[in-house]
Amino acid sequence: MKAHIVGGGFGGLAAAGYLIRNAGVSGEDITIYEADARMGGGFFLGGDAQSGYNLPGSVFDSEFRCTFDLLSAIPSKSDPAVSVKDEFFDFNTRRPFDDRARLIDGNGRILHGPRFGLSWRDGFHLARLALTPEARLEGRRIEEFFTPHFFASEFWLAYSTVMGSLPQHSAAELRRYLNRTLHMFPYISDMANIWRTRFDQYDTLIVPLVDWLLKRGVNMQNGTYVRDVGLAPIPDRITVDRLDCERNGAVTSVAVAPEDIVLLTFGSQAADMSVGSMTAPPPPQRAGRSWALWQRLAQARKEFGNPAAFFGEAHICDSHWVTFTVTTRGTEFLDEMATLTGSESGRGGLVSLIDSPWVLSLSVFHQPEIIDQPDGTYLWWGYGLFPERKGKFVQKRMDECTGAEILEEALRQLRFDNKFKAIMASSICIPCDMPYVNNIWMPRAHTDRPPPVPKGATNLGLVGQYVELSRDVAFTIEYSARAAWEAIHVLLKRGPAPPPVYQAQYDPKALFAALKVFVCPRSARPRGPASEEDRAMKLVRILSYGLAAFAGLYLLAAVVYAIPMIAGLIDDKMAVKFDRADPSIVADYRNGLTPGQRETFYHLSQGSEILPWPLLTAVDVADPASTKPFVENLERFGLMPDPARNDGLPVGLTVSSNPFTSA
Ligand SMILES: Cc1cc2nc3c(=O)[nH]c(=O)nc-3n(C[C@H](O)[C@H](O)[C@H](O)COP(=O)(O)OP(=O)(O)OC[C@H]3O[C@@H](n4cnc5c(N)ncnc54)[C@H](O)[C@@H]3O)c2cc1C
Repeated sequence: MKAHIVGGGFGGLAAAGYLIRNAGVSGEDITIYEADARMGGGFFLGGDAQSGYNLPGSVFDSEFRCTFDLLSAIPSKSDPAVSVKDEFFDFNTRRPFDDRARLIDGNGRILHGPRFGLSWRDGFHLARLALTPEARLEGRRIEEFFTPHFFASEFWLAYSTVMGSLPQHSAAELRRYLNRTLHMFPYISDMANIWRTRFDQYDTLIVPLVDWLLKRGVNMQNGTYVRDVGLAPIPDRITVDRLDCERNGAVTSVAVAPEDIVLLTFGSQAADMSVGSMTAPPPPQRAGRSWALWQRLAQARKEFGNPAAFFGEAHICDSHWVTFTVTTRGTEFLDEMATLTGSESGRGGLVSLIDSPWVLSLSVFHQPEIIDQPDGTYLWWGYGLFPERKGKFVQKRMDECTGAEILEEALRQLRFDNKFKAIMASSICIPCDMPYVNNIWMPRAHTDRPPPVPKGATNLGLVGQYVELSRDVAFTIEYSARAAWEAIHVLLKRGPAPPPVYQAQYDPKALFAALKVFVCPRSARPRGPASEEDRAMKLVRILSYGLAAFAGLYLLAAVVYAIPMIAGLIDDKMAVKFDRADPSIVADYRNGLTPGQRETFYHLSQGSEILPWPLLTAVDVADPASTKPFVENLERFGLMPDPARNDGLPVGLTVSSNPFTSA
């Protein structure tokens, strides 16, 4: 059996990984066809320190279950003794985001208030959407479920600039996001449980995976575009029998046997991406190659869904971003940002300038961002959510701006006027136009995305972000990884099924965290840099919490002790009470002893004299609360009464006479 994978983005590479790990397919029987010169798709790394880097931003969380399952087996590039998964977990646990200025308004003020600006009504609307069955949300838009107050709230501004959602986008996708990310709600401002890769995504994810696959003999055909897929003429079946590949202008056909499998990546968020420079805007690209195959197949058969719901000129205004990567040789920008935001450089997460016409969001990376990044070079990144609008300081649409113009608008918006010249002189800003990056948010019908294995398919699976998986959110590598795992599992019926999608609405910890946002809203005090007073207050708060916790524990212990005491289950004398034992239950092992001999044996002296008998019996009433002589009241010491004796001595003690003293 041979496996043919079309598309070498994370989805295609993950598919090869699952074929080897889960389905026992030999690497040598797997071929990946990738149109671009390099594998990686949406996780690219372009340029260099001299001409300026170009890369995507980074948003992950700890519940990328399919992804981390695979990455636990892949050695990282920075340290092959550590897996990519461990690198991820270690970095994000040690250096979580601590964003102290998530949103900044047009007056340079940090926007942060109780309940993230949500009213109880907004909360109700969020809950209503999260609880509405997805089938009732087909084709519906987010704006149908909320009031203008919600879209002006801190919550929405912070959420939408991380996740990419807009009011006109899919209500069904937002519902999925809400249920998938409920546990992140309390951290929507400081981003503390939003994760990133230790190094850029290409170095962190793509390079190690490609190396691992190459070592196992996987055949990677870069620069190979699959133009068409031949289907065998079998009624009601979808069986691929041919791939038409274009390489260096020449077209060749690859025969596919019925027992082989073909996994196609349908479309790409990075479709028609184009890159500019400091002096040139990104040239518009409208080739449509990444979804041409999907379009061709969908025209022939309805089982392949509807690419027109996501791709095509009409959608670009709702799915378009311009990103920019700044490579700088000075620390002026990083220093200014640290002063403005109060966040430690590299831990600040995203800073969104909410009143900028492009709605710019910026992020200073943990340095070095790239493994081979030269010393003295620093990287930061940003994007505009509305690139078709004109800037405030640069009166042009963002997608028509050069890198220098985008950098100028960002610096003016930040009011870094004093350092403007120095930053401009030491920085290279590379703009990158992405017309379809946000199109997974387009309102859709259930049938617009085909399932990982279309109805009737015998040897064809679909991977990537444009297949229909239940519950998961599509703007993630997890979605592509899950689609690949699912397709392989259904087609080959080998290995485990993919783990269930994390659903925060069923996780009590996540529910509690989300509830806390409403019930115990955070302070309205603007965050930003911590003052001496802040630090002193923090210490006082920690001490007060410690004291309260101690008092609470003490109180709890007192209650736990008091309940059985009051109920009479224990008394404070801690006395042990025995009934007199029943001699009839003593077992006879028929060892030849008569009852008399046995009694004598039981009560023989073992040689240790404790007290003279007259002395012991002279202590008559040792316990003032008792009228009994001391020897008849030994139960209070926990000693067991001896059924065969009437002198009061317990089991284990006896009376004997001393042959020397005759006492
Ligand atoms: C700017 C940006 C930032 C992102 N940030 C994050 C993030 O922080 N966290 C996260 O989880 N996800 C993020 N994503 C999403 C992430 O990139 C995708 O989830 C992931 O890369 C999708 O992988 P894929 O293989 O399905 O598709 P892609 O990465 O898009 O790769 C598809 C590949 O298939 C190739 N291809 C398509 N058709 C053909 C054909 N007919 N013949 C040959 N080759 C073909 C394309 O050339 C492309 O390389 C981001 C995406 C972008 C674009």
